[in-house]
Amino acid sequence: MAKTALITGASQGIGACIAKTLAADGFNIAVNCYSQKEVEGGGIAVCEACRALGVEAETFICDVSDFAACEEMTKAVKARFGTIDVLVNNAGITRDGLLVRMSEDQFDAVTNVNYKSVFNMTRHVGAVMFRQRSGRIINISSVAGVYGNAGQINYSAAKAGIIGMTKTTAKELGSRGITCNAVAPGFVRTPMTDVLKEEYKAEILKQIALGRLGEPEDIAGAVAFFASDRASYVTGQVLVVSGGMSM
Ligand code: NAP
Repeated sequence: MAKTALITGASQGIGACIAKTLAADGFNIAVNCYSQKEVEGGGIAVCEACRALGVEAETFICDVSDFAACEEMTKAVKARFGTIDVLVNNAGITRDGLLVRMSEDQFDAVTNVNYKSVFNMTRHVGAVMFRQRSGRIINISSVAGVYGNAGQINYSAAKAGIIGMTKTTAKELGSRGITCNAVAPGFVRTPMTDVLKEEYKAEILKQIALGRLGEPEDIAGAVAFFASDRASYVTGQVLVVSGGMSM
């Protein structure tokens, strides 16, 4: 039976690319979308691209910051595909601002979607994997979580918290054959970063050893490694994929 990968926030950007990359590796794909708007705006196309690679794919609507909704989605994916072998916690948002100007709402929105969601999904899918005695959990962190980033106290806190959860999950679930690793992207060209000013991107570019911004494929390749048999003895690790932006 084909294995199944569930990717959160997979209607666009890095998540959509991860979905298609894991489909190419033979996984059936559960494409999580925030709402019907994202299903129509990208989720359906991602599923079609996956199916064209010979696997099954379906969209699942869920706000991953909602604990109960994550439980419902987990049940729905398990019922549809039979197993959940790979969970990629990818959904994320930014609400940037300097510490002295940041509102409580900005902080809560980012930590709920980027950080609490990882607990929500890992709690429910982890229980499925626990019973299966196998699974791969891959969390999308950020260089902001590893090194900090001015203007992103909410985002860097969330992304650093994910690293703590990654290591704890690896320790708690390792004896059941479940690995948990994190990928920490640098600056990747997606709808999330398209909105940033060109001058800011030019400044970032100067800090990248490889001399180019990252592409979603760069991150999807690292995720595919962690999901593959080649990574079966790797757990609790954080792989920075930044083109040498930070060393
Ligand atoms: P993106 O294009 O904005 O995609 C993020 C996806 O998450 C969107 O489809 C978004 O849906 C979805 N999402 C947001 N809130 C959600 C919720 N509550 N429930 C379910 N889905 C939700 O961003 P991206 O650049 O691909 O980012 C993907 C991941 O990589 C994020 O965790 C991000 O923090 C991380 N990352 C990105 C970069 C970068 O440079 N791009 C660098 C480091 C880390 P909507 O369209 O409705 O918002």
